[in-house]
Amino acid sequence: MKLLVYYFLIILTLNSCNKKNNHFAIVVHGGAGTILKDNMTNEMEKAYKQKLEEALNVGYSILKQNGKSVDAVEATIKILEDSELFNAGKGSVLSNNEEVEMDASIMTGDNLNAGAVSGIKKIKNPITLARKVMEESEHVFLSGSGAEDFAVSKGFKLIDNSNFITNNRLNSLKNIKKRESNTDNKFGTVGCVAIDKNGNITSGTSTGGMTNKKWNRIGDVPIIGAGTYANNQTCGISSTGWGEYFIRNVVAYDISAQIEYNKKSIKNAAKNTLKKVKELGGSGGVIGIDKNLNIIMDFNTEGMYRGYKKSNGDTAIEIYK
Ligand code: ASP
Repeated sequence: MKLLVYYFLIILTLNSCNKKNNHFAIVVHGGAGTILKDNMTNEMEKAYKQKLEEALNVGYSILKQNGKSVDAVEATIKILEDSELFNAGKGSVLSNNEEVEMDASIMTGDNLNAGAVSGIKKIKNPITLARKVMEESEHVFLSGSGAEDFAVSKGFKLIDNSNFITNNRLNSLKNIKKRESNTDNKFGTVGCVAIDKNGNITSGTSTGGMTNKKWNRIGDVPIIGAGTYANNQTCGISSTGWGEYFIRNVVAYDISAQIEYNKKSIKNAAKNTLKKVKELGGSGGVIGIDKNLNIIMDFNTEGMYRGYKKSNGDTAIEIYK
């Protein structure tokens, strides 16, 4: 009898392991803001969607081949950083003094390990540097030239800041200076959340920040809990939007905390948090996956570049509301 019980217990455990091991998902954003169909040509729309799809597919195939979510998130974000379309890496917006200053962070939900960098001017893929900080330093958050010294000590190549400057971003800076406005309503930050076959969740976010920023301004993106958060017990989140408001509302952690302490669904938790952001006067969006593979792509702006792909075949790539 005892043997029989053991036998059933083993079968049950194996079954639940198998269940866990068959499913995975990935979600990506390329920023939120006043993204209106009227301001978009068909070609531009196609280019954005294609790049999002390419990035999603790279991460998806890593997960499909039993890869880790941290590898999928890094690889997906690198594709978006290397594209001029998004405000990260090569497409980063310019600061007031016509330089690029990039921020990035990454977090793994199995061990709550995290890495972040800010004010990066000479590293092609800041997300890779953030991961390096997470995995090969005793710190969580490095900034500016110190972060770049760390990068060099780990074998990264430094490239001149001029390599990141595109005509498109120069024009945006000039326009914004003419309007004497400090802010821009387009947030092109990129982010990715993935859950792998082992149930490990990773979140990552990368940005050039906000056009015309001054005084080494740092947004929410490299701040763990604001721009990025991951916890296997709850969810993974990556934010995009007006960083100051996302910091003040501790957006990514606020969503996770509602799941942890109030047993909220990820959908309702994200709604509540974005409502708080809006009430303070901020705008933006979040993507996320919870431990049960529920996906959210929520925003309180006109649009958000976004997409997801799940192992059960569900997939979507969208831009507008
Ligand atoms: N959240 C970013 C920042 O404030 C901007 C963005 O999402 O595009 O730096």
